[in-house]
This record gives sequence, C-alpha cells and structure tokens, in this order.
Amino acid sequence: MVDGIDAVGAQSRRRSGPVGVAIAGGGLRATSVLRLLSEVADLRVVGVYDSSSSAPAVRLAEDLGIFVTTEVDDLAQIDGLDLILDLSEDPNVSRNLAERRLPGVDIITGAGAELVWDLLVAKKRSEEQEKIFVELQVAYDKIRSHERKLQASKEALERANVELENRLAEIFFTHEFFKALTVFSTVDDVASLVVDGANGILGAEISCVYLFDQETWTLHLRACQGRPEEWFRPVVPVSQTILGAAFRDGFTQQADVPQGSELAEWVMDPDEIRSQTAVPLRTGDSILGVLAVAWATPRELDVAERDRLQVIANQSSLTLQNALLHEELERLSVTDRLTELYNHGYLLQRLDEELGRAARFGHRLSVIMMDIDDFKQFNDTYGHPRGDQVLKVVSGIIRQNLREIDVAARYGGEEFVLVLPETDAEGAVRVAERIRQSMESYEIEVDHTGARDRRTVSLGVATYPLHGQTVARLIDAADRAMYEAKRQGKNKVVVAR
Ligand code: GH3
Ligand code: MG
Ligand code: MG
Repeated sequence: MVDGIDAVGAQSRRRSGPVGVAIAGGGLRATSVLRLLSEVADLRVVGVYDSSSSAPAVRLAEDLGIFVTTEVDDLAQIDGLDLILDLSEDPNVSRNLAERRLPGVDIITGAGAELVWDLLVAKKRSEEQEKIFVELQVAYDKIRSHERKLQASKEALERANVELENRLAEIFFTHEFFKALTVFSTVDDVASLVVDGANGILGAEISCVYLFDQETWTLHLRACQGRPEEWFRPVVPVSQTILGAAFRDGFTQQADVPQGSELAEWVMDPDEIRSQTAVPLRTGDSILGVLAVAWATPRELDVAERDRLQVIANQSSLTLQNALLHEELERLSVTDRLTELYNHGYLLQRLDEELGRAARFGHRLSVIMMDIDDFKQFNDTYGHPRGDQVLKVVSGIIRQNLREIDVAARYGGEEFVLVLPETDAEGAVRVAERIRQSMESYEIEVDHTGARDRRTVSLGVATYPLHGQTVARLIDAADRAMYEAKRQGKNKVVVAR
C-alpha cells in the first residue's frame, strides 16, 4: 500500500491549508496516533470513527473537540477530509471504506497505516531525544558555568589570602623599618637599613644606596644588599648610568635593561641586570644620593610598589641627612666626645703650628705617644663599656699632668698623643713617667661588687729637632719609641733614638 502514501502527497498538493485526516479505529494505537497527529502543524484531525463510542480514541477526540462517530459512513460527510487513516485492524471496516470510493479522499490501510504509525513514533522519539539532549546541554552549560564561577571565586580567595599575608608581613616590616630609622644614627647604619628596607618592603632582589660627593661629582656606594660588595662599582660619575640620571633629573627612573646597556654600568657585570629603578634621595632642594633596586629578570614596578619605594626614599632621606650632618659636625669638631681630649685632626693641626713656633723661636718641643697595655684583654674580660671608663681615667690622669700650654689628644682608639711645647726630652720623660706611675697605681672599678683591676700604659718620647723636624717624622719617632716600650715588656717610657 505504498501507493497510498504517494497518494497523500499527490492529493494534498491539490488543496491549500492543512491536510484533513480522519482516523478509523479507536484502539490504543489510534489514541497514540491521534495524540501525535494533533501536534503536527500541517495536519488537522477532522474525525474519529469506532463502532464503540467508549473506545479510548473516541473519548480523547471528544476531549479535543474533534468530530466522533460510530457509523463508518458518517466519515463521508466530513468537510475538508483529505485522508482516512485506517487503524481499525478490522477487515470489514477496510473493505467498507474501500467500497465507498469517496472522491478526493485517500485511504491508508494495512501495511501503509503500519508505516505511518512507525514514522510517527520514530519522529516522536527523535523529537523527545532532541528535547532531552537540549535540556542536557542546557544543564551541562549551567554546571560548567557554576564550576567556572566557583573556581574563579576560589582563585580570587586564594589570591586575596596571599595578598593579605604579604601585606601583613609588609606592614609589620614597614613599621619596624620606620621605627628603626628613628634610632639609627651613623650614615652607614642608615644606608644599610635602607637597602634592607628595599628588600623587606619591596622584595627587591638587589638594592643599594649611593651618596653624592660634592668634591668629585661622583656617587659613592654606601650600602648594598643582594650581591657581594665587589659586584657594585664603588664610584659612579653623576654623568653615567641610571643612578646618575636619577640624581641629575631629580626624579625616579625606571628601565628595562637590554644587554650591554650603559644604564646598568653601576655594577661590574651589567648584563646580569634585566630591570632597575633608581630613586633620588632628596631633602628639600638638595639630593643626597640615590637608592637603586634591581632584578635579574624583567620586572616593572606597579603604581603601589613605586609609591612604597618613594616612601622609603623620602623617609630615609631625612634620617640620612641627619646622619650626614652629624658626621660633618663630628669632622668639624675638635674634641673627642668620650675623653673630651682633642681629636686626631686637631692635634695634627696644633702640632704643625707649635712646630712652626718652635722653629721660629729656636725652642725644643716634645711629643709623647702612649698606648694602653693589653687593652683588648681588658675589654674581653670586663666588656667594652668598662674599657671606655679606662679611656676616661687615662684622659683624667693626662690632664692632671699637663701644663696650660700642652696639647693632649686621643689619637686613635686607645692611643694618645701629647704635645709639650718648649720641653726637651728629659722634661718630656718626666711627664711621661708621672703618667705611667699614676696609671700603674690607679685602681679601676671593674664591676658593681667593687672589684678592681689595673691597667698600665707604654709611652714613647720624641723631641724636635733631634728626632724629627716635621709633624710626620716626630709622630713616627714617638710611635716607634712607644713600640720599643711595648717590646721591652710594656708599662715603660722609651725615648726615640
Ligand atoms: P698592646 O699592649 O699591644 O697595646 O695590646 P692591646 O690589647 O692594647 O692591643 P691593641 O692596642 O692592638 O688593641 C687595641 C684594643 O683597644 C682593641 C680595641 O678593642 C680596644 N679599643 C679601641 N678603641 C676603643 C674604645 O673606644 N673603647 C674601648 N672600650 N676599647 C677600645
Ligand atoms: Mg693600640
Ligand atoms: Mg694597646
């Protein structure tokens, strides 16, 4: 009955609008077909026949508002009928329909009807599968999207955690750093603290502080971190490298460093550096030097990091300036703080003047060089602060034995020089001997229990013009005499030869 199916196409092409279909038979299969066909857009079920008015398809048709009948002949009366689908599986019904020969109405029965049924069921299944597939796809997409969101928020959380930990460590370090800045006083201490700060706060792989020297117009290395000191060039002209650029321009310079770049020649092997930033250390209008940070990998500082570097530079500039002023004051001052005797520089200047005077007036002049015996051992036994007390005792004894016109200085750590104008070697030996004896008998308190110890001194005497006629020669002669005293067993006075 394949012909029958062909006829459906041929007939339906004659008319416009949906194809009108009537179903013969009211069984379960007819019910399914009715349900499937009622969903097909180009079809319209126009009637259902079964000999029993309670057949399931008949009841469904009634519910759907479709014409129903128990008389097969009634089908002929239906308006707009194009096709009868015979699902009755009843030979009488089939024969009856065939005999009617309704004009313009095709009848599909037997194997043809079976085929229509199979096609409808297959179509339904594939539609359902398609629907399920689409639903699955939608569900899958949703799950994927949730998963992605979950992963993203997990990653964000992890990043936030790491960032928080870093910030905490940084805040802690920054706090300690600024606290320490207020305590440190020497230039080298402050400079070292600054490079540590650049490392701790910014994670700089390499950092260094160079300070400006006005006389030579060069930058001098004062502290470094990340590489051994020999790795840095000790002196950099202000006309060269990124350090010079930061110093000259007065602004932060940041650069990636290509191989062989002149900008990185503040280190011995510039090719080791791939990125660098140099910040001028400025206070008001003056620039004290440059703080530089560098990495062996390309790395651009972000805005926050640049800000932090700037804060380090600003804060340390102030402290550095204080330390520099302090150092300068120390250099300019003539007395030694601990002993309140004159210092090395002033002594040389005074000795030069006194020698000039002695030469003009034909006077003699003596120099005494003196060094504490086994002082290192004293420090080691009682500690450095007790050692400092000894230095004060020595200076007191020296003062007691000097005249108004004499000059006494702390020449080095525990070395003293006395200049005695208008004094020959004999007179100088008398003074030296008095000092030696005073020291020998002086009992130094060494702890809070009242325990005491003694410390002796060795002294060398040299006299102008006999032992030397210049500052250097006289000092040297006195020094050698003092060493001779040490060689002879210490606690002695020896005159130069
Ligand atoms: P010598 O008898 O050969 O002179 O032996 P010494 O132990 O005194 O040896 P030397 O002169 O080489 O040692 C100097 C010591 O003086 C070492 C250092 O610890 C100590 N010293 C130097 N300056 C100071 C200071 O300002 N305060 C204190 N407490 N100790 C100092
Ligand atoms: Mg010494
Ligand atoms: Mg000594």
